[in-house]
Amino acid sequence: MTPRDQAPDVDQLARSMLRLYGAHDDHDDHAGNPEVRARNFSGAPDFASDPARAAAVREASLRDRERYLTSGLVSVDCRFCHVAVQVKKLGPGHTSVQWNTEASQRCAYFSEIRQSGGDSARAKACPKLADSIKHAVAEGCLEEISSAPSPGDG
Ligand SMILES: [Zn+2]
Repeated sequence: MTPRDQAPDVDQLARSMLRLYGAHDDHDDHAGNPEVRARNFSGAPDFASDPARAAAVREASLRDRERYLTSGLVSVDCRFCHVAVQVKKLGPGHTSVQWNTEASQRCAYFSEIRQSGGDSARAKACPKLADSIKHAVAEGCLEEISSAPSPGDG
């Protein structure tokens, strides 16, 4: 490769990096960003004069995004251990449970296994939590079979 061949690549790389940074640049200086300018002129409300409203709108879209990412997941408290885990029923006998680090550390069942020298990672689920999930379904807090679209169906 000669230096002359490399030059356009470097130039292109610099431009794509600029684009990348530009997309994250959501501050006041939109002058150089036609995409943002187009959005503002296309009738999207400008909340610059109403910061509280702007914050609410921003929060709502964050919530939307979170709902999308955790589609069908419902927070269920283990009534025995008092930890919250994300649960999604995929069908009878098929429950997806997402333990976060804090929950798996605080779960009394898992700590018991650890204290007796066992491997809590091998334990499938806290049996107390299984009861709590049943209660959540009975109370209508959790769908028996999640109606959220499953990415595996198709
Ligand atoms: Zn537990």
